Amino acid sequence: MEYFIDVVLPIPLEKLFTYSITQAEGENLKPGMRVAVPFGKSKIYTGLVHRVHNEPPQAYEAKEIDRILDEHPIVNPFQLKHWQWIAEYYMCTFGEVFRSAVPSAFLLESETLILLSTEAVIEESALEDDEFLVFEALQHQSSLKVHEVSSIVDRKNILPVLNRLIEKNVILLKEEIYEQYKPKLVKYVQLGKEYLSEEKLEALLTDLSRAPKQSQVVLALFQLQAVSQKPIKVTELEQESGASKAVIKALVDKQILEEYYIRRDRVDYEGDGGDEEVKSLNEYQEKALSDIHKGFENKKPVLLHGVTSSGKTEVYVQLIEDCINKGKQALYLLPEIALTTQLIGRLQEYFGEKVSVYHSKYNVQERVEVWNNVLHQKSKAQVVIGARSSLFLPFSKLGLIIIDEEHEGSFKQFDPAPRYHARDAAIVLGNLHGSQVLLGSATPSIESYLNAKTGKYGFAEIKRRFGNVLMPEIELVDLKEQSRKKLMKGHFSERLFLKIEEALKEGEQIILFQNRRGYAPIVECTTCGVSPQCPNCDVSLTYHQYKKQLRCHYCGYHTALPESCQACGSPTLDTKGFGTEQVEKELETLFPDAKTWRMDLDTTRGKHGYEKIITAFEQQEIDILVGTQMLTKGLDFRNVSLVGIMNADSLLNFPDYRAHERCFQLLTQVAGRAGRTQKRGKVIVQSYNPYHQILTQMSTNDYEGMFKEQLYEREQYKYPPKNRIIKITFKHKDYNRLNEAAEWFAKGLRNSLAGNVLGPEYPPVARIRNQYLKNVLVKIPKSTSVGGVKKGIRRLEKSFNAIAPYRSVRIIYNVDHV
Ligand code: ADP
Ligand code: ZN
Ligand code: ZN
Repeated sequence: MEYFIDVVLPIPLEKLFTYSITQAEGENLKPGMRVAVPFGKSKIYTGLVHRVHNEPPQAYEAKEIDRILDEHPIVNPFQLKHWQWIAEYYMCTFGEVFRSAVPSAFLLESETLILLSTEAVIEESALEDDEFLVFEALQHQSSLKVHEVSSIVDRKNILPVLNRLIEKNVILLKEEIYEQYKPKLVKYVQLGKEYLSEEKLEALLTDLSRAPKQSQVVLALFQLQAVSQKPIKVTELEQESGASKAVIKALVDKQILEEYYIRRDRVDYEGDGGDEEVKSLNEYQEKALSDIHKGFENKKPVLLHGVTSSGKTEVYVQLIEDCINKGKQALYLLPEIALTTQLIGRLQEYFGEKVSVYHSKYNVQERVEVWNNVLHQKSKAQVVIGARSSLFLPFSKLGLIIIDEEHEGSFKQFDPAPRYHARDAAIVLGNLHGSQVLLGSATPSIESYLNAKTGKYGFAEIKRRFGNVLMPEIELVDLKEQSRKKLMKGHFSERLFLKIEEALKEGEQIILFQNRRGYAPIVECTTCGVSPQCPNCDVSLTYHQYKKQLRCHYCGYHTALPESCQACGSPTLDTKGFGTEQVEKELETLFPDAKTWRMDLDTTRGKHGYEKIITAFEQQEIDILVGTQMLTKGLDFRNVSLVGIMNADSLLNFPDYRAHERCFQLLTQVAGRAGRTQKRGKVIVQSYNPYHQILTQMSTNDYEGMFKEQLYEREQYKYPPKNRIIKITFKHKDYNRLNEAAEWFAKGLRNSLAGNVLGPEYPPVARIRNQYLKNVLVKIPKSTSVGGVKKGIRRLEKSFNAIAPYRSVRIIYNVDHV
């Protein structure tokens, strides 16, 4: 009988590829194991086995695989199913899901070199035939590549041979095989074996009496060993003895001390937490918890609507505790920017080492470690807290999924494919595992709230802040009036200015929100009106004063600020609009004694950039923190009494059907940072439009009113949640070709979908990185089958690609675009 496998390749291929394997391989290979396979003329890819079977492919001759990369599956059947769903629902390929789901180290094809071991004393007769062949080849050649070994022994799976050769100390690998994952090793010290007996030890100490520094180190080591059973790190010994590295090295050289390495997981939690009792809940939290359980009993996801600072996190903690007590895994999903040490620290206090963190700021090594810990159901990854990609981890006993800040748009992956919504994909994942799913937010999305209202989800709520803390008082300030009366100081109204002054006097902290980074989004010549544009994108360059640069926020292009207008030559350049940098500058003049800091993309690069600012603010080393929406997320600061929204209008005027919902959410979340302790917090919202419905709703905490009005509008204009939408983006460097192609496609869609096709239209930024963009929006009533519509779109795409000039136009599907 012939044996075959269907393989998922990490590239956008519509179909799986079939390869032929030997019977022995067929007996070993299981779905979820990786294989290296040839593709095209000369490429080798890491592929994932999807199915092992005996059916030769019809359309082509199956090639043989290159080699097997795993001894056990690294992806489980739950994942394969889930990924399949994601690919189908979000209109991308399985390969694209695979590619973004696994840590990139799993896809690397490193050039592993096989070398003869330098200390090899080889007993040739002890080698088996295939081992000998490799050994012999290495006599003639200083190194071999893996595929060369493969052809020497005439076998694809050469791992066993190599492993045996390594065990027999014949060969060395000059790199981990196939993947660049290297566990981190930590250096420890202990007393040399020579000195373990008391006699020797005494002699040693006498000896060392003439070398006081060295004897101090030895004594310090004793002391450390006496208080702790744990291995002793070199760094600890340095600290304890006060001796330099050189002294310790001298002792190691004399073999009095011995260094050794232990593999430590990089994402280790080093505190001694984990013993903190979970807090007992107050009556409102208890009520919410019992409603949550009711929903779970009915096998439904549950939405928890709890105002900011109502103690949602403590409710989550209870659920997590239940979950791990049952021996199951828990996943705590958060938007990337809400993943702070604050929250991680809080969870670690309760669950200690059981908490693992998984997100994009962690490097490949760290991600591989979490992956493996989840795969092998290690207790140290029993609770995973992570951003959207943690959905792809190899859970096999997933008991609970919490989706915190469920309303956050950043749960939707924008680019590249799969353009999935982590909240929705998490609900599907929960279904596969039969796990409990909880969505939490102070400002639920219209979708989720509707689902709760219609009984599709269970529902729980907490309307009060914990500890009877009052909701902050929100005041709207009319910027038009303030300007007319000449009361503005820079971008600060008189009200806001006075309130800041007051708060500073009381020693309280202040958060100021402006949803734009940089100094000013536009530089304009007051003589001729021209403003510098990005050469690659259709957008004005943002002025960053700190670096005296103009920057494009879409492609990263930057240039020095010119001295004079490049169109007319006059030196009359002025700025329009303002960003966080300008607010910070103004503060320095208005409140020279206050310590001001800025938190936006420009100040938080690097793994810990963000945390440093948060910690400094927490420790009250900063009085005023200016920032973008980064500072809205789940932060719990004790001493903030005032929050100022510099300009609410830019949020309201966003050209998007969700702008109003989002404005309400964002402002409510920022406002929620104020007054989280006894004193009532104050929020000042500056706007040219203070009577706007959304601002009124936000200032009176009228979520329900906002929900009803938005739902009504969405229904009128056929937007979600009553309809589904698929946004189709066309992309090409040639303007005319793009227009023609997009028109053709839209016409085709209209023929089959009648009135539910909008566009093609240019997005607000119609060219990015020299590619023109055009969007078509397909609206699908809930009564119509989405599957059918997607099939229709795919069919149209086939005809589209058959038209030669259109073929180079990229088509991007964004299902449930947010
Ligand atoms: P949310 O997640 O709803 O914004 P948090 O869970 O951060 O609210 O709670 C706000 C504050 O109240 C936190 O400092 C938290 O430690 C405290 N808190 C919440 N619930 C309790 C409780 N049951 N017992 C003691 N403190 C609590
Ligand atoms: Zn000019
Ligand atoms: Zn650009």
